[in-house]
Amino acid sequence: MRNTGEKVIIIGGGIAGLAAGIYALKSGFDAEIFEKNAVPGGECMGWNRNGYHIDNCIHWLTGTDPGNALWDVWKTVGAIDENTEYADTDRFYTSNVDGREVTLWNDLDRTERELIGESPEDEDEIRKFIEHVRYAESCVIPAIKPMDMMGIRDYMDMGKSMANMPKVLKEYGNINCTELGLRFKSPVIRKLMTDYLPSDYTAYSLLVSYATMTSGNGKIPLKGSLAMSLRIADRFKQMGGVLHTSSSVKEIIIDKHKATGIRLEDGTTVAADHVISAVDTDFLFGRLIDKKYMPRALARAYEDRKAYPVITGFQIAFAIDADFSVKDTLFFDCEPVRVGQKNYDRISVKNYSYDTSFAPEGKTVLQANLCQSDEDYLYWAGLTSQEYKAAKKKLTDEITQRIISRFPELDGKITLLDSWTPLTYNRYCNAYHGSYMGFVTTVGNKQMRFKGVVKGVSNLYIAGQWVMNPGGLPVAVVSGKFAIQRILKKQHRSIEV
Ligand SMILES: Cc1cc2nc3c(=O)[nH]c(=O)nc-3n(C[C@H](O)[C@H](O)[C@H](O)COP(=O)(O)OP(=O)(O)OC[C@H]3O[C@@H](n4cnc5c(N)ncnc54)[C@H](O)[C@@H]3O)c2cc1C
Repeated sequence: MRNTGEKVIIIGGGIAGLAAGIYALKSGFDAEIFEKNAVPGGECMGWNRNGYHIDNCIHWLTGTDPGNALWDVWKTVGAIDENTEYADTDRFYTSNVDGREVTLWNDLDRTERELIGESPEDEDEIRKFIEHVRYAESCVIPAIKPMDMMGIRDYMDMGKSMANMPKVLKEYGNINCTELGLRFKSPVIRKLMTDYLPSDYTAYSLLVSYATMTSGNGKIPLKGSLAMSLRIADRFKQMGGVLHTSSSVKEIIIDKHKATGIRLEDGTTVAADHVISAVDTDFLFGRLIDKKYMPRALARAYEDRKAYPVITGFQIAFAIDADFSVKDTLFFDCEPVRVGQKNYDRISVKNYSYDTSFAPEGKTVLQANLCQSDEDYLYWAGLTSQEYKAAKKKLTDEITQRIISRFPELDGKITLLDSWTPLTYNRYCNAYHGSYMGFVTTVGNKQMRFKGVVKGVSNLYIAGQWVMNPGGLPVAVVSGKFAIQRILKKQHRSIEV
């Protein structure tokens, strides 16, 4: 592609920002990314502790099936290709109640058999659930172009390929995960339906997530999240992009309603022909530019915390000096632990033994997770620094003790590597309320989707997981591509990139 001589500046070197950089270069622009942290990747991250690697993002990467458009995007940015090796996992997760255990296997027939074996009286409901997971396997997110640039033919093609999705939405789009659980009589199947996603998530989100795995379109690339982020950053640099790390952006310079560059925290200004914000929209509107520019739909969502909650977590990573039998993710009952005003009587542990690069031979990394919400974020944020440290230590100790009570074989073989809270995500990525997805899709809320442009400021574009529900890596990567397509369209150039 011929160089245009125009410069695109991208704020934020997470997956969205890195993708925007690569598509900018592909389109003939010069591209510079400014990332506040020393390492690119944003929330698609991992870090080392005491000879172990803590992988803190990819539970599944939607788009690993080469048959769909999202795979092309991942390949273009250098995340995966035909030679990528994936974790050899056979399940989504397992729920345990009073010693009864059921699993959502990647093999749907196996799940069906196991669930019916566990609770024959739920057979009809189980068969319906399985049938609709099969329908949900056709669900894809638009990856070729933004939906507002799609024509009738694009919509017809999408409708044809997702012909079964309306059935999933009809049956499971108007109930949340708690209500889905209540359709089953078996206590352990009820928990299976509510363990993974927050209870107010729409039930269809669970089916779509599970279907990503059963269809083979949601695998886990080996070597983990950080390695994937670094592959994308390397692709950007190899193509001629400039990545500035440890470079926090303070504001976007607007001159006569036009974005003309950025100012860094150290006062340096950098001019640009186009600016793309790939940071949290809460940080963009209010910190980088005036909040008055925030699109109305987005402002309403931030104001209505009940209809548009966010999801975050309290997490702990342990080194396990043993071969630990639990495979992947297991949810189980525990003596309640208290966080702020809430009691948690179920926790999950995830065994990372599927990737041998994360731990020395014969050992593994185990992570525990307490799913947290806006309310929990406010609890942590309200503590003084001393109270915060004490509360974090207490909770870490309590959860460790719960894990040892559940798995006595780990006593003496489990060592703390690290623990982190919703505040960590805010500090590290400026993530709104520590969220690591976009707004949660609850029953009755209007799906959040807005054009990645800013009314009243030209030459400023928005990428990142907040532009479209439910966020996550696929939305982040396509939003980077879409931001460039918006520039191309404005310049009356082809948006095929
Ligand atoms: C524990 C966990 C598990 C997850 N599991 C999955 C999963 O299995 N599958 C999935 O699809 N998704 C998963 N996600 C979500 C996924 O990680 C995110 O949706 C995605 O990484 C968001 O990318 P982004 O580029 O939109 O935002 P971010 O990653 O937040 O990137 C924004 C970047 O901007 C930088 N920044 C912020 N402010 C400034 C500033 N002023 N100046 C310069 N830079 C700035 C930040 O440091 C950051 O690097 C998970 C996330 C977490 C934390």
